[in-house]
Amino acid sequence: MKPQGQDRSSAFLVCRECGEKLHLLSRHLKLRHGLTLDDYRRKHSIAHGLQTRSRAYETLRQTAAIPRRA
Ligand SMILES: [Zn+2]
Repeated sequence: MKPQGQDRSSAFLVCRECGEKLHLLSRHLKLRHGLTLDDYRRKHSIAHGLQTRSRAYETLRQTAAIPRRA
């Protein structure tokens, strides 16, 4: 199993709770684990700069003009 954060070419994020590949971390955490991003950060000792959206999602957002969250 690869260490988290080493696979820079991956288009997905990997949940540290369950190892699932996903695009939107916050929604997954809430639905699957009942966690907020803050909970997740604290639990896994993640400092600022946590990536919460996959690169694929960012690309999609740019091309499909998905509205930004305020
Ligand atoms: Zn998960």
